[in-house]
Amino acid sequence: MTRPLRFSIRSYGCQMNVYDAQRMGEALAAAGHRPVDDDAPADVRVFNTCHIREKAAEKVYSDIGRIVAEARARGEPRPLIVVAGCTAQAEGEELARRAPAVDVIVGPQAYHRLPELVGRARTSPGVVLDLDMPAEPKFRHLPPRAPRAAPSSFLTVQEGCDKFCTFCVVPYTRGAEASRPVEDVLAEARALLAAGARELVLLGQNVNAWARPGTDFAGLLAAVAALPGLERLRYTTSHPRDVTPSLIHAHAAVPQLMPFLHLPVQSGSDRILTAMNRRHTAADYRETVARLRAARPDLALSSDFIVGFPGESEEDFEATLALVEEVGFAQAYSFRYSPRPGTPAADRPDQVPEAVKAERLGRLQALLSAQQYAFNRACLGRVTEVLVERPGRHRGQWTGRSPWGQAVVVEADLSPGALVEVELAQAGPHSLVGRPTGRVR
Ligand code: SF4
Repeated sequence: MTRPLRFSIRSYGCQMNVYDAQRMGEALAAAGHRPVDDDAPADVRVFNTCHIREKAAEKVYSDIGRIVAEARARGEPRPLIVVAGCTAQAEGEELARRAPAVDVIVGPQAYHRLPELVGRARTSPGVVLDLDMPAEPKFRHLPPRAPRAAPSSFLTVQEGCDKFCTFCVVPYTRGAEASRPVEDVLAEARALLAAGARELVLLGQNVNAWARPGTDFAGLLAAVAALPGLERLRYTTSHPRDVTPSLIHAHAAVPQLMPFLHLPVQSGSDRILTAMNRRHTAADYRETVARLRAARPDLALSSDFIVGFPGESEEDFEATLALVEEVGFAQAYSFRYSPRPGTPAADRPDQVPEAVKAERLGRLQALLSAQQYAFNRACLGRVTEVLVERPGRHRGQWTGRSPWGQAVVVEADLSPGALVEVELAQAGPHSLVGRPTGRVR
């Protein structure tokens, strides 16, 4: 075999891309290649792209340009360049035309073939393209999980989406909804727990749409929660329409399921929700939240919001602010509407001016930040456990997550994976300080 290649993977966008980058790294390592840090010299640079907004999609082009320029400046041959992920799937040959330096373009459903594609690119001229969406899922062709796992590890259980929201590219870049078999999910979960994970985050573009014959998503959560060694369980990203009574019951009945839920609503206006093809109303969302909170009173909610969707009036936007005021969010992600090629909303004539989007986003984010800070302050004095994930900014400090998804800084002699009991002693807008009680497990 030729000399092992040094490779780095840079991932943009969502948790699922982080998971895919881990699996691509494992596939290249299993083929004998060696992972290096993003800023270390490498023979192969992999860019795992996000296509959700224009800014994210354009980022890869500037990064590729820099890699090529740096190699030219050093008078060295440039590394082999791989573009993976959703922009690869969406733009394919257009990407090859815009960035002739790219050697491999591979979609999210074909990256199990990455070692072979890299091999072909090294021996044949021209770009190697693989945007296949094979009938048989890639998971069956990926090597076992790496022997070391992060304390909180991602585990993809569902992919794709059949909802076709009019602003979204995911159904086109990730394909139709597909749920992994229970036994495959449990096998990978056991491997991650054996490798040191204590918390698992089940991932899917529409994770709560996961279903297999005889088992619904609540059933999968219960099965994963029962695994020895699992301390905490989370899942993301959900759709309000797939929050079933059994899932709501799971939030009351499964102790390992953390009291934090990311449930995107996007807008508080029924007129805009209809135009987005979300197929639920703001009242439906409020009702779902009320039932979840009845099941788990300390549930912390997070959500996604889009401002400036085509046709959005000031009145529509006020409806979003009113929903936010009423529901109250512990965390949230909010963005200006970004027209995506190939999505129905991009062609609408009633696009909202950027200045109006910016002004509305400012008002929304001010409200959301105030709610996040208020939620953190309301948690002061609570005694709870923090799962330590990594060293903090200062010596002797560690950071991790509370059950409610908050970042918590703890000063003590700890290590990644420790579950440290703390009293939440100081609250900031985006994080808290935990005072250890002495109990660690
Ligand atoms: S449900 Fe989510 S992933 Fe699916 S189309 Fe809508 S926004 Fe995109």
